Amino acid sequence: MSCLLDIRGVTRRYPRPRRQLLHSEPPLVAVDNVSVRIEQGRTLGIVGESGSGKSTLARMAMAFEAPDEGEVLFEGQPLHRLSPRALQALRPQFQMIFQDPFGSLDPRRSVGWSVAQPLRAAGKSAGSRDRVAETLEQVGLRAADMDRYPHEFSGGQRQRIAIARAIVTKPKLIVADEAVSALDVSVRAQILNLLMDLQAEMGLGILFISHDLAVVSSLCDDLLVLRNGVAVEQGLAGDILDSPGHDYTRTLLTAAALEFEGQHPEGQQPEEQPA
Ligand code: ADP
Ligand code: MG
Repeated sequence: MSCLLDIRGVTRRYPRPRRQLLHSEPPLVAVDNVSVRIEQGRTLGIVGESGSGKSTLARMAMAFEAPDEGEVLFEGQPLHRLSPRALQALRPQFQMIFQDPFGSLDPRRSVGWSVAQPLRAAGKSAGSRDRVAETLEQVGLRAADMDRYPHEFSGGQRQRIAIARAIVTKPKLIVADEAVSALDVSVRAQILNLLMDLQAEMGLGILFISHDLAVVSSLCDDLLVLRNGVAVEQGLAGDILDSPGHDYTRTLLTAAALEFEGQHPEGQQPEEQPA
């Protein structure tokens, strides 16, 4: 098994909003000395309450933001020490599915334009129409959908478009931050199945972030539980779910079980139709 992403002892601090002029508070430690690895073909789940540092860790994993301490290695290369040019050359290999697919698709641009964006960023727009067509079919849409606009699609279909954009460069790693949190249960199951199919097909490593342990537990091999920026528990997902070693994890499990009971997620339902 080869290690795709090696996150080593990363810490990220933010200045706190200043409330009193003379009273300077210590900075907020959003992520506190976290180490975790993502292997090829495996899914690492990161779970924790809102504000626990999940998105901050994701931004560092994507090299959108540099850690104050520690480092992030992609296939052995320290991302934050690469030149902008070297980082740009590496970017096609790790892509992100953004938290808000509705906001992240430009409503004035065709689906094909949005899906091709990572190809353009990598200077590979030649032949992009064919690649976009192929990718749309890979995520269960039609090639002709490239000439349509985001408002013509349902929430689940828009999330498929966001996934198409993330895999169009044939990456090795995908970072999905709350990628299914806005979807209802039946559509969410279809999107999770799609991610698992793509993983099997492409050998993707996936960093899957959710505040909801029920979602994470259904598809993750490995698990990291974050609380106030600190990794309170990490290891094989099955082990942690079977015997959580921390009260915080047990609380998350209870919350997930309660939500599960309320949702009646029986079986597969047909994909919702566009509005
Ligand atoms: P999560 O994704 O788990 O909800 P975040 O990583 O978004 O958590 O946030 C972790 C903590 O860092 C929170 O307290 C948040 O308010 C703070 N934070 C995140 N980004 C910034 C920023 N750019 N500036 C200041 N504080 C931030
Ligand atoms: Mg977040």
